[in-house]
Amino acid sequence: MSNNELLFQRAQKTTPGGVNSPVRAFKSVGGTPRFIERAQGPHFWDADGKQYIDYIGSWGPAILGHAHPQVIDAVQKAAANGLSFGAPTEGEILMAEEICKLVPSIEQVRLVSSGTEATMSALRLARGATKRDKIIKFEGCYHGHADALLVKAGSGLLTFGNPTSAGVPEDFTKHTLVLDYNNCEQLQDAFAKYSDEIACVIVEPVAGNMNLIKASSDFLKTMRDLCDQHGSILIFDEVMCGFRVALGGAQSVYEITPDLTALGKVIGGGLPVAAFGGRAEIMKHLAPLGGVYQAGTLSGNPVAVAAGLTTLKLIQQADFYETLTSQTSKLTAGFNAIASKLGVEMCADSIGGMFGIYFTKTIPTSYAEMMQANNASFNKFFHFMLDAGVYLAPSAFEAGFVSITHTDEIIQQTLTAAEISLSQLA
Ligand SMILES: *Cc1c(COP(=O)(O)O)cnc(C)c1O
Repeated sequence: MSNNELLFQRAQKTTPGGVNSPVRAFKSVGGTPRFIERAQGPHFWDADGKQYIDYIGSWGPAILGHAHPQVIDAVQKAAANGLSFGAPTEGEILMAEEICKLVPSIEQVRLVSSGTEATMSALRLARGATKRDKIIKFEGCYHGHADALLVKAGSGLLTFGNPTSAGVPEDFTKHTLVLDYNNCEQLQDAFAKYSDEIACVIVEPVAGNMNLIKASSDFLKTMRDLCDQHGSILIFDEVMCGFRVALGGAQSVYEITPDLTALGKVIGGGLPVAAFGGRAEIMKHLAPLGGVYQAGTLSGNPVAVAAGLTTLKLIQQADFYETLTSQTSKLTAGFNAIASKLGVEMCADSIGGMFGIYFTKTIPTSYAEMMQANNASFNKFFHFMLDAGVYLAPSAFEAGFVSITHTDEIIQQTLTAAEISLSQLA
């Protein structure tokens, strides 16, 4: 048995399914998850010493490549001064100032430790500030695992949602309306029907949790206008796309200003930092100023903030996003060229440092279209690539991530592996 297999067996004795987050178990693609021992730049190595080119980058945070020396140094220095105080630090101010500077729609921000906390808290804040209960989300968008957001569309058009997880009472999702992504008409109908009862709309402006699916400008603009007309709060969940598709997040790409933004992943540089922020007039409803309660023992943790702040500084280097974007499009252009040459029904798309590989005829624009993808082909492709030393997301419904350390040589190695893998499929 390989070390990965031994570790997976052992892990399953004391950890449900052997993993601490479900997608890591390879359930969708089959096979044995790789247990990672160390990572550097674009690579990581598993428990059997095998090297991989990594295209998940911890699901986004590793935008500088793994173990960037300046980030590691900042973490080591911070750790030497103590791990956590439960009292404020200057580092938290610097982090907040940096976020407010880079994302102009954020006038005030609160740090938390996970994306789930960020969206859950933003939702509570929106409800508290508007004194309304109903919320709108979109099918296929993931906003962490708060109860009210683990929900799929109800049985009738514009009826409230049903839980997607056991353990979530129907009562907890009965205020959540689930609409189709990129469907402006449904949004208009929903606001026509529920008008001034809607506290907020929450959306991934670039969706990365049903594979990569871009919002149309029209869709986001319609949402913005409807929220303005009805006094509802627009929340952009940029936990994944923030600092990933561009320095100012998806809101800078689409030039649409949300009222609140949730951030995570990149802003922690690999340690647990997330945040939510927006207009000061809304943020003032948070405790200790206002009546919306929100707190965290490890919020703004000094070691995590050191990693996050250093990461936010380094991504502001000249040409960082130009380079990241061009490396990512070289990869997807390569995938598209190989697929069409070999006549395989596969396509790829990207924005900034995020990409999608779809086993579909055309690039999907909604959850329903993404569900048409050929899962069996993806799973075969995934395992061919894994054997060839390329680690893609272990599910057809996840996005991929490129780091600044994915050089031309790394991209070329990936495309060589892809050509061999796809020709085995063809
Ligand atoms: C990852 C993610 C979350 C949840 O963040 P966690 O840190 O895993 O809790 C929320 N929203 C989006 C868009 C995400 O990609």
